[in-house]
Order: sequence, then C-alpha cells, then structure tokens
Amino acid sequence: MAGLNGELVFAALGGVGEIGMNLSIYGLGDARRRSWLAVDIGVSFASEENLPGIDLILPDIRYLVEERRNLAGIVLTHAHEDHFGALLDLWPKLKVPVYATPFTAALFAAKRLGEPGAPDIPIREIALGSRFKVGPFDIELVSVAHSIPESNALILRTPHGNVLHTGDWKIDPTPVIGPPTDEAKLRALGAEGCLAMIGDSTNAVRDGRSPSESDVAKNLAELIASAPGRVAVTTFASHVSRIRAIAEAARAVDREVVVVGRAMDRVTQVARETGYLDGIADFRGIEVFGHLPPDKVVALCTGSQGEPRAALARIAEDEHPEIALSKGDRVIFSSRPIPGNEKAIGRVINGLVSQGVEVITDRTHLVHVSGHPRRGELEDMIGWVRPGTVIPVHGEALHLAEHAALARRLQRNVVVCRNGDLVRLAPGDPAIVDEVPAGRLYKDGRLLIAADARTVADRKRLSFSGIVTVALALTDKGQLAANPEVELIGIPETGADGDSMAEVAYEAAVETVESLPRPRRRDPDSVAEAVRRAVRAAVAARWGKKTHVTVQVLMV
Ligand SMILES: [Zn+2]
Ligand SMILES: [Zn+2]
Repeated sequence: MAGLNGELVFAALGGVGEIGMNLSIYGLGDARRRSWLAVDIGVSFASEENLPGIDLILPDIRYLVEERRNLAGIVLTHAHEDHFGALLDLWPKLKVPVYATPFTAALFAAKRLGEPGAPDIPIREIALGSRFKVGPFDIELVSVAHSIPESNALILRTPHGNVLHTGDWKIDPTPVIGPPTDEAKLRALGAEGCLAMIGDSTNAVRDGRSPSESDVAKNLAELIASAPGRVAVTTFASHVSRIRAIAEAARAVDREVVVVGRAMDRVTQVARETGYLDGIADFRGIEVFGHLPPDKVVALCTGSQGEPRAALARIAEDEHPEIALSKGDRVIFSSRPIPGNEKAIGRVINGLVSQGVEVITDRTHLVHVSGHPRRGELEDMIGWVRPGTVIPVHGEALHLAEHAALARRLQRNVVVCRNGDLVRLAPGDPAIVDEVPAGRLYKDGRLLIAADARTVADRKRLSFSGIVTVALALTDKGQLAANPEVELIGIPETGADGDSMAEVAYEAAVETVESLPRPRRRDPDSVAEAVRRAVRAAVAARWGKKTHVTVQVLMV
C-alpha cells in the first residue's frame, strides 16, 4: 500500500485530443515504483482515405508492457469499442486481470467467439454499483446513463484523496433501460471530497441538455405507427435501449421485428441473456421478412454509418438476398453520422431514395440523442461532485478546451493534458510533471504495426503516383544479356505526346546502361541507381508526376 509519502498520478495513453482509443492509467507510489491501474483499452476506426488498408487504430502500450509487473488490472467502464475494442489484441502483451460488469463481460465473450483463435481472456465480473479492490486501488462503480447498458463511472479512493473517472455518461432521468445516473452517490462523493474529476468532453461544445431516450422512443413509436408500408430502422448495434424502444413500438402496432445484420444479432442475443430485453417477444428470422405483409414488419438493421458491407448498404443497392424495400416503405436512421462517415451514409440514403423509399434522419426528427453530456449536464455533475481539479478527456482539442473553460467558470482548477502527459494529482496542486511513452498502433491484416512504420506511408505514396519496376540482366562484361523487363502499376498507359509509357521507361533503361562507362557497368548498385534516376525523369517528363521506380540488376 502506497503511503502518504508517495504520489497519485494519472496519464491518458489514448483518448485525449481525439475521440476514440480510450486508455487511462492511475499510479500510486513514487517514481521508483508505482502500482498501476488501467481504465479501458479501446480502439479508433480509421477512415479508408486517410490510412489505406488499415481498419483499426490501437493505443501503443509499450509503457504498460514495461510496467506490466506493477499493473494491478484493467477495469472496463462499458462495452463500446472505443473503450474495450483493443482488449483482444493487446491483452496477451499484459496478461493482467480484467474487470467488467455482466453485460460488458457477456458482449466481450460473444465478440471473442466471433474471432477464431482469439485468446482466452478471463474476465472478473463485478456487480453494478459495487465496491472492490484491484491491487492497492479501492474502486466503486457509479451507474451512469449512456447509449449502451451498464456504463459506469469509477470512484477511486486513495490515501491521497478521491478521484472520479466519469467514463461516458449523460444525465437521463428516463432512460429506456438501466438506472438513471446515480446522482445520490455522486452528491455523496462531493460531500466526502473529490480531489479530481477526469471527465467526458464529447459534447462540451453543445449548450443545454440532452433530450431523453424516452423522447426518442416516443417519436420512433409515432413514426413506426404512421408508416404505410414496411419500416426499417438502423441504429448502432450496441444501443440496446434503442433496440428495445423499436421493439416496443413495433409490438404496439402489431408488427414483427426482424433483425438484419450480424453485429445486431450478437448484441440482441447478449441483451436477452443479460435481461435487457425481458418482456420483449422473440425477434423473427430474416427469412420471414418477404412473407409478412408490409404493414406487419419492422426490420432492425446494421449499417447506420454507411458501412458498405452492412445490411442497409446492401438493401440500398437492392443487393440484399432477403430484404427488399420499395416505394412507400420508410427507413429511419436512429443515429448520427460519426465524423468521416458522411459520404458513405449519403450514398446509402441516395440509394434508398432512388428506390422510392422515404428516409427519415435526425436532421428533421428527434430520432436520436447522443449518450454524452452537454454543458448543462456538465455543470450539474461538477455541482454534485465539486472536484478540486477537472481534467478533460474523451474529446478533440476543441471539446477539451470548451470543457476546460466551463470548469474554470465554475471556479475549478483545470489541467488540460495530452496523451502521454503524466499528471500528478496529489500531493500538491495537480500538474503535469513528466511524460510517458504514448502513441498509436495500426491493425494491418492480422498484424499490429507502429504508426510511424513506412508501410502505410509507402501505400499512400503508391496510391498517388504508382510504381515502375525494371529488371536488368548484365553479363560480366557489363552488357545487357537480354531485353530489360519493365512493369508499370498505377501509371497512365500513354504520355502527353502519345508515347507508350512502358516504352518510355524501357528506352530510358536501355540508353542509360549503354551510355555508362564500362567499369561502372560491372557495379550492379551503380547501374541500378543510374537507371532508377533516368526512368523516373523520363516518366516525369511525359506525365508531370514523379513515380516510384525500383530497379533490379542481375549479373549473369
Ligand atoms: Zn461510450
Ligand atoms: Zn467513448
């Protein structure tokens, strides 16, 4: 147990200056030896244009790997991918106990089953609202409303004082499932004393308060009741309260619910196992969709972000094997575009509209609310907990700055940090005192690669200007043993003057070899470099762009 001689420190290894890839660590002890607790271990999603071939971005945990023996465990606040998505890939490097509430544990188990060869990761289940110990850390869960069941804030009680790690939260007095945010417990923490709050900044740029899930449920019920034909609703697969609201709305007007999409199937099964769909009739198999009268069915679909392989995109292209929509049918996007996905979603909407389908989004109807606190809610939370210091996390620079400004207006001390900054929370006024290694990893196929590795930079470069490969065979006298082989990938076939680019490259290669003095021709590296420069210049002269050229010289 760390005595009062030590310190309490905090660092974000991900999730600050960005939305996604959350990973926070708390340390007790002094610089020579600290005990660590990790909170969450999430991913970010890469958009295709920025990082070709990369789907997932993970936090670089080299610091935690170094400190593995002092890492007491990982606590997951909830089952969103930006909080638990990196566990499967990174846990084998850490092999420490993982703590999660039942829904999070069950969704993780289901996800693991879906990935053959995934490591067997023992999860220790903790009850909602419970208090438990992980190494020297005394932790208490606080239930908070969010957009997935069982989101938890954590109270850490230490010899230096108490800390509130909010996780993702909002205030919703009438969530469709689960308890509302536990105001009483948070007020009690305020009375007990709270030295710092590490908190969600996602919606700190928005005034007022979030509407309730129940308001959304009411609107969805009206839109489903008033629909003349088939209805399809798309939402985030993990949004169980939304799924429940849609199921209840369907039942009220005698419509059956058909689940379309694997991610939605997985979550609804887990939600049934954990009781969050109690009282809801079983959903029907996808095969009945075509046989039910149009006014007797609601399809619950994946693909709210325009994902090209998800159910809704295939329906929009009229390429789904079982589900077809037509004029008079209604599609409701019970979601909001995650920044970067607007174009893909636009394609899906246009596909549906071209088929005569009516599309309803949150631009015109209250069919979605965010799971994060707006300014009014942040003010309430700070009022209840009265933290000495506020440390904004879970946001891009603008969100962090707005959260910080709000906290300062409420007379709180504020520390704005970046990923990797080590913040001493106590003793003394919280401040950044050091730095620990932090960064990002890319998941490339089955491999994890460093974000600064050449791989992705090369891939981007090739996508702009292609590649020319030249293979030459030279005799020991330095003469060409055969015609060079030239291959062009991603380069226009003919140049501005109508020349074949392949011939341009070929001739540049031959002329260069023949013009080199004989002694130099016996040095393969020297030949390769001269040919590379010449081919690159010749192609650039006709194209106006510099390409990548590789030359192989073989001495025969
Ligand atoms: Zn979340
Ligand atoms: Zn989050």
